[in-house]
Amino acid sequence: MCGYAAWSIEEEIVAATTTSLAGGMAIGGRFVPMVQLICTHCGFVAHHAVGVLGINLNN
Ligand SMILES: [Zn+2]
Repeated sequence: MCGYAAWSIEEEIVAATTTSLAGGMAIGGRFVPMVQLICTHCGFVAHHAVGVLGINLNN
């Protein structure tokens, strides 16, 4: 991160596919829905789990 204090909040939710510690990945399996923030200066991307933020995806 560059320390710049201007972030763009994307309106789309992104998802990280989960995998087991053994390396097995299931296509269409569980995923973690996340909000994506992008630094407008350097392009650093930060993801935050919507469940922790209290965002309801069923609206
Ligand atoms: Zn930055």
